[in-house]
Amino acid sequence: MDLGINGRTAIVCAASKGLGRACAMQLAKEGVNVVISARTKADIEATAEEIRKAANVKVIAIACDVTTEEGRKMILAACPNPDILINNAGGPPPGDFKDFSLDDWRKAVEWNMITPIALIKATVYGMMDRKFGRILNITSQSVKAPIASLELSNGARAGLTGAVAVIARKAVRNNVTINNILPGPFETDRLTGSTRKAAEMQGIAFEKAMENRKANVPAGRFGQPAEFGAAAAFLCSSQAGFITGQNLLLDGGIFQGAL
Ligand code: NAP
Repeated sequence: MDLGINGRTAIVCAASKGLGRACAMQLAKEGVNVVISARTKADIEATAEEIRKAANVKVIAIACDVTTEEGRKMILAACPNPDILINNAGGPPPGDFKDFSLDDWRKAVEWNMITPIALIKATVYGMMDRKFGRILNITSQSVKAPIASLELSNGARAGLTGAVAVIARKAVRNNVTINNILPGPFETDRLTGSTRKAAEMQGIAFEKAMENRKANVPAGRFGQPAEFGAAAAFLCSSQAGFITGQNLLLDGGIFQGAL
């Protein structure tokens, strides 16, 4: 299927690795020019080069922290009128409710709720004027089913989901959609890093810890970033204009709900 977005421009945040990178790569393969960002300059420039090799599109790499106002200004200066916005950033650290300070909560809300809201506010009205826009927030399966060790993430991401529910339904009249994609376990640096830590804490081999995690996935495997990128690209397509305010769970069947 031709997604009908050839020649459009996308901002993809936190995109040197993992899920953000996969979204940028797939959009570029669909002919979308991409403005990608991450904090580590060498990594984001290397990813930009890989995308240029894979697709004949314009790629701008910006080294910045998207959770800061300065970082967001840099991204918007490079691309003030995107057709597509993919919100993403690192997730908050794991821990226990009793140990989190109020500043930990403020940071989580700043990273995973305020940051996407700020970028949506800066771009959605221009998209509505131009009668095309696709906004995706990369959140987490924890929005549907909270994860015990990730209370900071559970709270901030559920907050974002509620915060965009109304604007998602206002913007759609002008062919602008806002949706959330909820990853389950995808094989990225974040997943291998957190599994390595868990293995150390449990005193078991990393490979064993990966097998244990996989055993909980009905699909019998982890998701691959390219699968995530493909789903994201479809939600950004011209055909997806009737899908808004939704939460698309990509978790290999982990969430045990019929609806
Ligand atoms: P990843 O492989 O660790 O990649 C994270 C990417 O984000 C890197 O490019 C990183 O580059 C960039 N980044 C992180 N913080 C940033 C910041 N403040 N400003 C700009 N760029 C930033 O992670 P991932 O697995 O793709 O996860 C992406 C998001 O999905 C995270 O919020 C994660 O919590 C969530 N998630 C992932 C999974 C999973 O299984 N993978 C499951 C549920 C939810 P720099 O470090 O150089 O900035």
